[in-house]
Amino acid sequence: MIDKKNASFVPSLCMGEIEEELLVPYPAPKPAEAETLRAIFGTLEKMLGPRAADFAAWDRAGEMPPAFLQELREAGLFGLVVPEAYGGLGLGATAYARVIQELARYDASVAVTVGAHSSIGLRGLLLFGTPEQRARWLPRLATGELLAAFCLTEPTAGSDAASIKTTAVRDGDDFVLNGEKIWITNGGIAGLFTVFAKTSQEGRGHITAFVVTRDMKGVSSGPHEDKMGIRASSTTSVLLEDVRVPADHVLGEVGKGFKVAMRILNAGRTGLGGGSVGGMKRIIELAARQARERSQFGRPIGSFGLVKEKLGRMVVDAYAAESVVNMVAGLVDRGHEEVAVESAISKVFASEALFRTADEALQIAGGMGYMREAPWERIVRDVRINRIFEGTSEILRLFIALTAMNDVAQELKDISAGLKGIFDDPIKGFGLLSDYAKRRASLATGLRRAKGTWTLLHPSLAEEQQAFEAATTALARAADRTLRRHGKRIIEEQLATRRLADALVDLFALGCVLARVSTAIDDRGADAAAPEREILRAFAAGARRRIDASLAGLDEAEDAAVLAVGERALEAGRYVWDNVER
Ligand SMILES: Cc1cc2nc3c(=O)[nH]c(=O)nc-3n(C[C@H](O)[C@H](O)[C@H](O)COP(=O)(O)OP(=O)(O)OC[C@H]3O[C@@H](n4cnc5c(N)ncnc54)[C@H](O)[C@@H]3O)c2cc1C
Repeated sequence: MIDKKNASFVPSLCMGEIEEELLVPYPAPKPAEAETLRAIFGTLEKMLGPRAADFAAWDRAGEMPPAFLQELREAGLFGLVVPEAYGGLGLGATAYARVIQELARYDASVAVTVGAHSSIGLRGLLLFGTPEQRARWLPRLATGELLAAFCLTEPTAGSDAASIKTTAVRDGDDFVLNGEKIWITNGGIAGLFTVFAKTSQEGRGHITAFVVTRDMKGVSSGPHEDKMGIRASSTTSVLLEDVRVPADHVLGEVGKGFKVAMRILNAGRTGLGGGSVGGMKRIIELAARQARERSQFGRPIGSFGLVKEKLGRMVVDAYAAESVVNMVAGLVDRGHEEVAVESAISKVFASEALFRTADEALQIAGGMGYMREAPWERIVRDVRINRIFEGTSEILRLFIALTAMNDVAQELKDISAGLKGIFDDPIKGFGLLSDYAKRRASLATGLRRAKGTWTLLHPSLAEEQQAFEAATTALARAADRTLRRHGKRIIEEQLATRRLADALVDLFALGCVLARVSTAIDDRGADAAAPEREILRAFAAGARRRIDASLAGLDEAEDAAVLAVGERALEAGRYVWDNVER
């Protein structure tokens, strides 16, 4: 049992430290939970297995029939994360992510409908609800009598969620809400909305979270959006016109709603990661079948190296994404509180791996991949959203790097503060300096402190272990150098921040794969785990190359050149290098 509930793996990497007990052994599902999951999988196969033609038809129609929603309700799919005391299944993060994964194997719109309800729609009640609020709404949310939606985005507030304009003005015992929310998943079918509104007009912030129900006067939803993918899921605007919301509908504290929103989104990310992994597993099945069945030049296309390579990379990506999602969900289930960075990584890594997988699978299908009669084009359309909603890849990368480097920044700040007061308190100042100097010296010489190494991994993984340790030292050095170079201006240095984030994403994924393969060897022996050892070899080599390239770029002129080109394109508003002007 880990006692360091506040330790966090990725921020520690920035300090050159490997908190290996957080990752090893790789978490295994509890037997009772595995049994529940098997029962759920059986139900899903019976209900969703024969529906492939329906899912394709509902994609075209852009809507899911109400009778099918009723089937999802009756199967108990809206009670997955609701505690048993309120009539739900009370699944932990790992089991929940696994169910979303399974749903995504059948249909992305179904996974998104159930996911938005459980991951973000009702999550505020689980995290912040008072006993009265929970007793009042959770039982009906568990049965699906009430479906839930999460309402943050507005026409002028997307990534910059703190700039929302919806207002909540206190009037006696009520708040009166006015505003427009857009692109709300389940917007057309939800009965309960977690709505974020400003409770003070002074500048940014002062946001409060409210539970709003559809039966309140002034609540309405707009038409179903005509989307690129996940077309059968409901996405609508939600309008709030003089909606009187009683004060006992406030979730958390008045004025602390931004924190509520961020906690909900952090908690929801392993669900989305799980969905991505499920999508990848289905795509691999389809791609393997295509590669076996399609012949060209007298042989199955799967026998060609370039096609086999694609399948291999898909499996490596899926294995790595699954390792990350299970690892983060496992940390959550063991009560770890500091997983915001790791869960953001799980979303970024899994959603991008899913997109690569879908794109390469379409390529394996060739021209057929482009035809609407085949499944590929819908898959590519469906998976694209994952890199956008619940935090875009760009915003999450900034969040990952800036949050992870916070400790390094804090240390640098302490040092400068310590230096300032060095003559007042030489002993304290000396302590600070010597600690810091030790860390810098260890980074500079490559002599790692004991904490910069793994001790729990199987010895046969020495090569990858050393690659990980070397990358950690390089990363910590780069974080230190970058923060000194830019100081507070790091916020404006997005390309440098992105490079550090890229390295962190790969390094965390590699840590999860290392821990998983090591645990597999310990549990089942080297021979049985040999195929997984191969996945590790393939992933580690690529990750190390990408990390080296990301960090090397911090000191090269490429980023400045690209920014200059982009700046000129912004000014010109067009491509100016045509050799025959129109
Ligand atoms: C199908 C669908 C379902 C959705 N469901 C919900 C839902 O249930 N509830 C809800 O509240 N919202 C929902 N959304 C909204 C979604 O969360 C937002 O679309 C997303 O957060 C991005 O906001 P935006 O679209 O306004 O893009 P913008 O914020 O305008 O961003 C546009 C681009 O600029 C980049 N960018 C923005 N700011 C920065 C920056 N500071 N630095 C670098 N790059 C930046 C972004 O990464 C992106 O590439 C949904 C959206 C869709 C399409």
